[in-house]
Amino acid sequence: AVGAREGIIAFKAKYVEAIAAVQPLLASNMRIHILKDIYPAGDEVITIWMATGRRVPPAALPKDVGVAVNNVLTLINLARAVDHGTPVTERTLTISGAVSDPITVTVPIGTPLRDVIARAGSITTAKPYFVNGGPMMGKLLDGIDQPVTKTTGGIIVLPEDHIVIRRHRQPMRDVMAIARAVCEQCNLCTELCPRHLIGHELHPALIVRSANYHDIGKPSVLLSALTCSECAICEQWACPVNISPMRINVALKEKFRAEGARYVGDLRPLDPMAEHRLVPTSRLVTRLGIAPYNKKAPLDESETHPAMVVLNLRQHVGAAALPVVQVGDVVQRGQLLAEIPPEALGARIHASISGRVSAVSSQSITVTA
Ligand code: SF4
Ligand code: SF4
Repeated sequence: AVGAREGIIAFKAKYVEAIAAVQPLLASNMRIHILKDIYPAGDEVITIWMATGRRVPPAALPKDVGVAVNNVLTLINLARAVDHGTPVTERTLTISGAVSDPITVTVPIGTPLRDVIARAGSITTAKPYFVNGGPMMGKLLDGIDQPVTKTTGGIIVLPEDHIVIRRHRQPMRDVMAIARAVCEQCNLCTELCPRHLIGHELHPALIVRSANYHDIGKPSVLLSALTCSECAICEQWACPVNISPMRINVALKEKFRAEGARYVGDLRPLDPMAEHRLVPTSRLVTRLGIAPYNKKAPLDESETHPAMVVLNLRQHVGAAALPVVQVGDVVQRGQLLAEIPPEALGARIHASISGRVSAVSSQSITVTA
């Protein structure tokens, strides 16, 4: 569909079973690429560079270097849609961290997170916090009385005093105060920034310096914050004095996006040390204090049958979907519930369980089994 001459499936070497399962199925124009066990190997820009040698310029897309890159779940969903016309109605996610029985489950979209987390046994910390996504790039959830969406990642449960949680909860004024007080311009955040290493202008040390002086600095340096992947290497790994250049970048991004500003800049030469400065995952696990939670989360293929699902009308880039059902309608799993607005970019929403529509609002549609 994208006219690709070659297909590459990128694995880390540790996924021995998956590699063995895929190897015999490869077409003649496909190959497996073994990624080093480094972070952020899953950042698509870094994956592309490691698997093909091509470097995506700053503020550009993979297609600009002739690459289409997708994760496994997206490819599964694509295959189901193309081969069987099946819409996306379920999500596979891992529940790990401070739980008695880490687990990977597939649940209908819209299932309350609380119910999904309960599948991982008991929570083993008195004051749990919940991160949606990985420990480096995940977002802190403001509670678990919310539904699973098409983009919900793995859920990590962590204690209140865990470094990952303390980072997330640190108020922005504290981030700025620490940056102003102790940034020694050691440049480590820049030297270890994966985007900088592959030739992007992004220079977190200079951005911190500019932010500390009322955003005085070369405009393109500040605007390059828009190209930050939010991988958190600068915050969780590089900075010796606990500054978060990433949070400063995120704040700048919000400001620039509100102003409609854009970054324009060329790809620069690759740092000759790039390959050696990416962070081994094992060392990162130790640094983040997540080694005690680094356990297998086996796939449980038993089905989940929630009593109710809440389907958000915006689970995607673009406009919220428009409901095409009313309260009281009986719907079947897979049935269209909300349509893309005319002339807009968006995605349809389908029923993830069979039942009756029990609520329709501007934000969501509720289906009760
Ligand atoms: S690593 Fe920390 S101290 Fe060094 S330049 Fe970056 S923000 Fe400043
Ligand atoms: S979070 Fe930090 S290390 Fe990662 S891309 Fe942004 S500036 Fe670079």
